Order: sequence, then C-alpha cells, then structure tokens
Amino acid sequence: MNHSNWEAVIGLEIHVQLSTNSKIFSASSTAFGAEPNDQANEIDLGLPGTLPAVNSGIFPKAIAFGICIDANISKTSRFDRKNYFYPDLPKGYQITQMEIPIVTNGKIEIKPITGGSKTIRINRAHLEEDAGKSIHGLIPNMTGIDLNRAGIPLLEIVSEPDMRNAEEAEIYAKSIHQLVTYLSISDGNMAEGSFRCDANVSVRNRGETVLGVRTETKNINSFKFLKNAINYEIDRQITILESGAKVEQETRLYDSVKNETRPMRSKETATDYRYFPEPDLLPVVLDEAYIEEIRLTLPELPTQKKDRYSQDYDLNEEEVFFLSNDLDLAEYFEECVRLTGDAKQSANWLKGEMASRLSKHEITIREAPVSANNLSRIIIRIADGTISSKIGKKIFSAIWENNGMEVDHLIEEKNLSQVSDENELQMIVSEIIRNNPKQVKQFLDGKGKLLGYFVGLVMKETSGKANPKQLNELILKRLNSEKKTSP
Ligand code: ADP
Ligand code: MG
Repeated sequence: MNHSNWEAVIGLEIHVQLSTNSKIFSASSTAFGAEPNDQANEIDLGLPGTLPAVNSGIFPKAIAFGICIDANISKTSRFDRKNYFYPDLPKGYQITQMEIPIVTNGKIEIKPITGGSKTIRINRAHLEEDAGKSIHGLIPNMTGIDLNRAGIPLLEIVSEPDMRNAEEAEIYAKSIHQLVTYLSISDGNMAEGSFRCDANVSVRNRGETVLGVRTETKNINSFKFLKNAINYEIDRQITILESGAKVEQETRLYDSVKNETRPMRSKETATDYRYFPEPDLLPVVLDEAYIEEIRLTLPELPTQKKDRYSQDYDLNEEEVFFLSNDLDLAEYFEECVRLTGDAKQSANWLKGEMASRLSKHEITIREAPVSANNLSRIIIRIADGTISSKIGKKIFSAIWENNGMEVDHLIEEKNLSQVSDENELQMIVSEIIRNNPKQVKQFLDGKGKLLGYFVGLVMKETSGKANPKQLNELILKRLNSEKKTSP
C-alpha cells in the first residue's frame, strides 16, 4: 500500500495498575490469580448502604509519575461518576476523575531508533477503579463474571495525538512502562493486565492540519500487538478513504490470532456517560510540602542510571543501554557488580549467556534460574583461575537446567577445577607434541597459527579444564625447545 500521501495520527490511553495491597476504595486484596470473585466485597459490588473509602497509597504514586513527566499536580482534584451499564460493572457506574484529574499537562521524551528524540505531550493522568471481567467458556453456554478486578486502582495516562507511526507509539508505550516500573508504582505485568493500551488512530492527507476521524482499539496487552493493531488500522483506514468512503468513529477490538481489528461498538461521547461529581468521596486536597517530599524521595530514574553507569563503569553505550533499560536487569547487574567488583564481566555474562537463554525461554530476569549470587560465584572462580570460562559456561548451564545449585559445590563434586598443576600439564603437552611430529615441523617452519591446534588438543584431553594462559606459555616453550633440538 502506498502511504506516501497519507499521514497517521496516534494518541494512546494507557491503563497502569498501581501496586497496592488493597483496592482503591475497599479492603479487598489485589493479589493476582485468586479464584473468581474471592476478592470482591460489598463495596466493590456497590451494594446499597456501603461507602467507598479511598486508599491513600495511590496518591504518592500518581504524584511521583506526574513529577517525572514535568506535569502540573492538581492541589485539589476530584472523583466523578461515569455512568454506564455493563455486566462486569454491577454498581452501574465507574468512579474516575473526569473534570479535575490529579495530573495534567505533562510530557515525555522518546528516542526513536531512527535517531534524534521527540517530545510526546501527556494531556492528563487520572485515578480510577478497574471494572470486572466477563469470562467466556468456563461455564457451558453461559458467560461468567469475575469481579476480582473491580476496584483495582488504575492510573490512566492519556497522551496528546502526537505520534505519527506505530513505531513511535511503541516507543512511547515502552517509555511509560519503563518509567512506572522504575518508580515501582506498578509491576507493569502486561500478561496479568497491569499495563494495557488503547490506541486511538486516524489518518489524514499529508499537509492537512485538521485531525481525521479516529477509531479506538481497546485493551492491547503487548507491545507487539500494539504495533500490529496500529499498522492494521492505518492500512484499513487508508483503504476506506481511498475508496471514497468515510471512516466510522468507533471502538474496536484487536484479535491477535487473526492480527486484525474488529468493530466493538460505535463511539460514545462524554454526554452519554452523564458524568457528575462522586457524592460519596471528598475532594483530594494536597499541599506543596507533601508533593515536595515525594519529589525528594524519588528513586534513580532511567536517564540518571544510564549516566551513572557510563561514568562509573568501563562499559560502552550499547552495554549501558542494555543494562539500564529494564529495572530488574539493572538490579541484577548491580548485585553482580557488588559481589564480583567486575562490571565488565558482569555485563558480558548478562549480555551473552543470560540474554540468549532468557530470550530462548521467553522469560524475564526475575524468573531466571541462575541467581545473581550464583552468576557472581562463577565470575569469581574464573577470575581466580579455579575454572576456565568454558567450564564457567557449563556450570551456568547446569545451574540453569537444575534450577539452583551451589557453584563451588558443583566444581568440587564434578571435579571441574582447572588443571593448572604444571607437571600434569607438562606431561600432556609432551605427549601431544610427540604424537604430532608433522604439525610440529610445520610450526617450526613458520606456520605460527598451529599453536591453536596444539592448545585445542590439550583442551580436549583435559575436557577444557586447562588454564588457557598457562597452557599457551607451556606449549610455546616446548615447541621452541623442539627447535633447538631439531637438526
Ligand atoms: P475520549 O475521552 O473520548 O476517548 P479524548 O479527547 O480524551 O477522547 O482522547 C482520547 C485519546 O485519543 C487521546 O489519547 C487523544 O490524543 C487521542 N485522539 C483524539 N483525537 C484523535 C484523532 N483524531 N486521531 C488520533 N488520536 C486522537
Ligand atoms: Mg477514551
């Protein structure tokens, strides 16, 4: 499809689950994975005679986010009722912030791979409760309702329509994800619904300044799906417009199996929801000192961490980016550095062995069977010469497969320490030189590359346990002495 005459416009609404133990207006647990409806009480269900009481733990989290996106923090904000009927919303309304959200007018810098950087404006971030979930397929011929999510605290982050292609939207979503996880205000777990994106997409003729009619594709729970859904929508809308028809403003769903979006309902407007101030809750009043205190206790942020890594460690730009991109990985790395004192080796192992296994098994560093403690042990034992790096990799592999073993114990039990006993190595080297007269002659005739051949043979003989540096020296010495004795 020829896109050159068309420009896409994208704005995202991101729902971030705030990490609290109890719900936004009740004492129900927010823990993931409970049996349906085990974590929904009379307040979450909105039974008559109950009153919500706000969980004050949500405010510092929303404020910290607001500070980090350079936003205005409302000194007085308010909760509103958004009225609608849906089976997963037994109250008949959602408590949200419509008129005066806690965070307004922020911005975030994103860095597209094509270079440079771009500012995405954030219109608002407001606090609200999540709804329940319809469950299809669990009960034959019926839809079940699980209200465990009803009342889960959310921060909804609404961008301005500042993105122009799916890649930018993906980078923006990743930047928000990185920020909320660095701030530890959310676990960001997309598979569990802690981070969901709604993609608003429209297209217009290049050069046009008025926005086109948009669609909103709801509840996208992976970065890949986000990119796919947006690209699908861009193509679909261009096809419609090029045929002379009009795009319907509507809410759509993304089907990740078919990789397409489908209509869900026609777009509702704010008046449909009959918003009004929530009568059961007081306004949220914050003073400057409270906000200042949160500002002063902010944790290290992604860019600060990057700067610190570049300054303190001998790492290249790519390594710094890789290590600081994800907070869990950064913390794992810092633990290794603390234990080994060797940032370069820690980085090498994480970028090499660790990264390739994580991606192979599609798991995160949190789930890695090799702990920072064990990896550090391996690095230390290589550095002090007890094992070769090749054996180090074998040990890493053994611990990975057997889920947690003690490194030193493994070295001893499997007799993996390096053969660095000079006499033993000497004997093996002598035998190999004796058995390969042809190669010895070639070496002495100037084919220096053959040194590697001899090293390889000894390594094979010792199952990789020879100390490489010592071995190189020994073989060279022996070969050179052959030179003197040869006629
Ligand atoms: P609503 O509350 O009805 O969803 P908003 O005005 O709050 O509408 O916008 C929701 C999101 O849609 C925002 O992220 C905004 O940037 C985006 N948006 C609005 N208009 C367009 C458009 N024409 N094309 C793409 N995105 C849009
Ligand atoms: Mg919306």
